[in-house]
Amino acid sequence: LRANFSVIQKETGFVNGVIAVLHDVTEQEKIDIERREFVANVSHELRTPLTTMRSYLEALAEGAWQDDEIAPRFLEVTQEETERMIRLVNDLLQLSKMDSKDYRMNTDWINFTSLFNRVIDRFDLSKSQNVSFKRLLIEEAVFVEIDQDKITQVLDNIISNALKYSPEGGQVTFTTSYKDEFLLISVKDEGMGIPRDKVEKIFERFYRVDKARTRQLGGTGLGLAIAREMVEAHGGRIWAESEEGKGTTIYFTLPYDPAQEDEWT
Ligand code: ADP
Repeated sequence: LRANFSVIQKETGFVNGVIAVLHDVTEQEKIDIERREFVANVSHELRTPLTTMRSYLEALAEGAWQDDEIAPRFLEVTQEETERMIRLVNDLLQLSKMDSKDYRMNTDWINFTSLFNRVIDRFDLSKSQNVSFKRLLIEEAVFVEIDQDKITQVLDNIISNALKYSPEGGQVTFTTSYKDEFLLISVKDEGMGIPRDKVEKIFERFYRVDKARTRQLGGTGLGLAIAREMVEAHGGRIWAESEEGKGTTIYFTLPYDPAQEDEWT
């Protein structure tokens, strides 16, 4: 609520009255504030890798390029920063597509069990850390009406975090189960966890628990915000449970109708 006061005063200085105009900070103003914050965040996120690159390139230009040891390392940093900016811009485009009015989903009836297994297999084959995978999935085919690319992206974002924050020798557990009219999916890791008061914030755009650390890990701070938009666009929900020092579980649901499924069996 915002208040504007005007004092009604005669030429003699005598105060006749005061008009107070109270008005709600309207929905439009809220959107404007959010938009300004978003633009400030994006600018900051882009400036950080750019200034890093500038200083490394300056050092190279001033002679470091002739140093056999330093030059490859500096080039590697500028490459990593470039990759991060590409990821960031791709994530931003993804978000802006979803924000647009004519955002449409491309849904199909998909067997979630086999989709989930394929995504897990892909991570299993390409992961570089020593982390083991455990699958506790509903064994039979479970058909859900989803946009396969979007839900694959949701799984990618969640699983890549689970791996990023997993300790050496840790385990990532995948589950699916039926819960009322939903399919419940979870990905659990044994990583450092998230402080209790921060757990809900991780789905906000650009929110990071530990800025320096997650930057180092190459994150954009948008992965879970994108996941949330996509899950909600399907009529599902996404949330996290976490215990510091023990690990984190990300859950999400997708509408599931067992009656519909009869058509497939
Ligand atoms: P980022 O690209 O930084 O990983 P995300 O939106 O995917 O962005 O995640 C937001 C923040 O939530 C991360 O920076 C991290 O602090 C925290 N986070 C997400 N997943 C996990 C996890 N599995 N374990 C611990 N912290 C996590």
